[in-house]
Amino acid sequence: MHPAGMRHNAGFGFPPETSRMDLSRFPRRRYTSFVTPLEPLPRFTQALAASCPGGKGPQVWIKRDDMLGLFPGGNKTRKLEFLVADALAKGADTLVTCGAPQSNHCRITLAAAVTEGLKCRFVIEERVPGTYSETASGNNFMFHLMGVEAITVVPAGSNMAAAMQAVADALAGEGRKAYIVPGGGSNAVGGLGYVACAQELQQQFFDQGVQIDRVVVGSGSSGTHGGLLAGFLGNNIHIPIVGIGVSRDPADQDPLVHKEAQAVADLLGLGMTIPREKVVSVGGYWQPKYSIPNAKMVEAVQMLARTEAILLDPVYTGKIMAGLIGLAREGFFRPDENVLFLHTGGLPSLHAYEREVLGDTPVTS
Ligand SMILES: *Cc1c(COP(=O)(O)O)cnc(C)c1O
Repeated sequence: MHPAGMRHNAGFGFPPETSRMDLSRFPRRRYTSFVTPLEPLPRFTQALAASCPGGKGPQVWIKRDDMLGLFPGGNKTRKLEFLVADALAKGADTLVTCGAPQSNHCRITLAAAVTEGLKCRFVIEERVPGTYSETASGNNFMFHLMGVEAITVVPAGSNMAAAMQAVADALAGEGRKAYIVPGGGSNAVGGLGYVACAQELQQQFFDQGVQIDRVVVGSGSSGTHGGLLAGFLGNNIHIPIVGIGVSRDPADQDPLVHKEAQAVADLLGLGMTIPREKVVSVGGYWQPKYSIPNAKMVEAVQMLARTEAILLDPVYTGKIMAGLIGLAREGFFRPDENVLFLHTGGLPSLHAYEREVLGDTPVTS
């Protein structure tokens, strides 16, 4: 038996940053009892190459974060492991968070609350006017099935932090204690979930003998992109990351990701300034608007479903994969490159857009 302090013993000659990447010093709940698979996509790779100029495209791999716990889980599961542990440490009895009407983040936060015996309330931003319906399917249906305590709907552009604070204040007035989980779970604490993912990937690359040349990841509230970047840099993983914007073009998105990565690095105590040029994202694929279907998304969702039987969602991962496909066709990747697609989840919203994804309802080209 080693005393607990031995883990941080500097006597082994490790540089100090080794212990700075030791995540065990942060409280964490566990919502996934296994490591999510890292797999090649041979049939998708073949179909993609056939559609690229010269018939050559990259080798595509997938990290199945759509299989994370709090099923049907996704990237929010990893962030909530650290956020909910923090909430419990602070004695909260209710999680308060926010999102869009088909928010995966709200649904997974509620799932975490249920498993912890906490209550949960949402502030829903009706980003596209008239799109909130109390009886909608997909994630919205699951909000009610899992027993959300209250939903406040606010118009697009509302101050979400203030709206969540108002809910927390009302609870405090009743002698309860709320913990506010920021939108998408993206702050320094939530970003630790993707530092953990970076470490999980590093171990998998080693165990499976896989060399990945580039990672393609969704970039929204930015905890995933920024957390993974901080995790890569902190662990000396020199694989470039390309974010595909799901709601913003690079001029607006990159500063958010940089801020998130820096906040995570600071929480870890890395003593490092995140180089601005390490933050790379691609715009356009989210158009015409966040969550509104487009033709490239439909093609991407159908292509992965019909080559690998893996389901993407219309709001996030369908557009993110459309970005990977588009970059491949533009010759952005070398043909011998191993590109890793991070599947961040989102399955339930597929059911809210069934006709569009099948191509029966026209979508923006
Ligand atoms: C929230 C979400 C994203 C975006 O991740 P961020 O960390 O918010 O940038 C991507 N995919 C799915 C399925 C999501 O629910």
